[in-house]
Amino acid sequence: MTDIDSSAPVLVTGASGYIASWIVRFLLEGGYTVHGTVRDMRQGQKFGHLYELAKKEKGSLRLFEADLLHEGAFRKAMEDCGVVIHTASPFRLKVKDPRQDLVDPARKGTLNVLATVNELDTVQRVVLTSSVAAIYGDAIELADKPNGMFTEDDWNLRADLDYQPYSFSKTIAEKEAWALAEAQDRWSMVALQPGFVLGPSLSDRSDSTSIDFMLSMVNGNFKSGVPDLYFGIVDVRDVAQAHIRAGFNPEASGRNILTADELGVLEMGAILRTEFGKKYPLPRRILPKWLLYILGPFRGYSWSYIRRNAGYPVRFDNSCSMEKLGMTYRPVSETLIEQVHDFERKGMI
Ligand code: NAP
Repeated sequence: MTDIDSSAPVLVTGASGYIASWIVRFLLEGGYTVHGTVRDMRQGQKFGHLYELAKKEKGSLRLFEADLLHEGAFRKAMEDCGVVIHTASPFRLKVKDPRQDLVDPARKGTLNVLATVNELDTVQRVVLTSSVAAIYGDAIELADKPNGMFTEDDWNLRADLDYQPYSFSKTIAEKEAWALAEAQDRWSMVALQPGFVLGPSLSDRSDSTSIDFMLSMVNGNFKSGVPDLYFGIVDVRDVAQAHIRAGFNPEASGRNILTADELGVLEMGAILRTEFGKKYPLPRRILPKWLLYILGPFRGYSWSYIRRNAGYPVRFDNSCSMEKLGMTYRPVSETLIEQVHDFERKGMI
């Protein structure tokens, strides 16, 4: 594989998002020229922090407007770029219309970005932000895995428009991206599958699902108990670094799971208690499954989801990202505690 030109601009789609803001920051720190896209240039409150970062760092930043659903929208931003990091995609668990709100922007947006990659000769590498949601459907499936771990060979075969539509949006977008990447040999693609991404944020926004979840933990939304659910967790700063390694390491390839550890929601509360004691109404008990069946539908968990996930731990094989991308992961305790300190500094709790 030929070296990737690090003097060319790097495109980051969805630059104002929770993960992308850290990618932009690390690129600017590294002296790169960054082209970022935002959905709407009139919403300065969503991306003002990026211009503030650019003032302090060596690299330079230009922002462009691009909506995932508008054909050709990414062309201007992508001109002259060597690496395209495609993070933009809605991450919402509760939506009104799964096709319109999740699947269309994820799938059509990815195809839209890659169509422009195909038109512009400068692009050598595409990094696609996928998710472990494209790796597995339900935690119960782990019982059938030979090594007791989900790996990059696994695909989510269960999600559809009705059942876990966010997972469906990530699965279909990644599958179609691979079809386009494998139909040519001018550019290479590396896909990243982060677990649940947590840790401090570079903006004051609270509309990201990762931030909303942690705010719920400390604000007492789970005070009466938490569902017995387990997630692969990873620090947002590690995820951002992985994107940059995937962009510039010529040997990087294929799918790469990004997780530091697996934890249940109750265990997350216990970790936070070691730092914050009784300061916040953190969860102390698991909701029994029968109660979840009653409460679940009001909180966005279907019976089928509860049956196939509550009480089943998950485990992911993250060795690929450690070997191929040289990743080492921050301990999850540091991630959780620093995120809550970040809320405190910003007066969000
Ligand atoms: P986020 O903060 O909500 O960022 C999502 C980004 O996508 C935002 O910049 C948003 O723009 C942009 N976007 C959404 N719809 C768009 C549209 N129609 N046109 C243009 N831009 C649009 O979420 P995040 O957590 O950083 O997620 C970033 C990526 O990581 C997503 O692909 C997500 O699936 C993936 N991921 C996230 C996690 C996690 O736990 N956070 C885990 C695995 C994978 P606005 O700023 O205008 O809203």
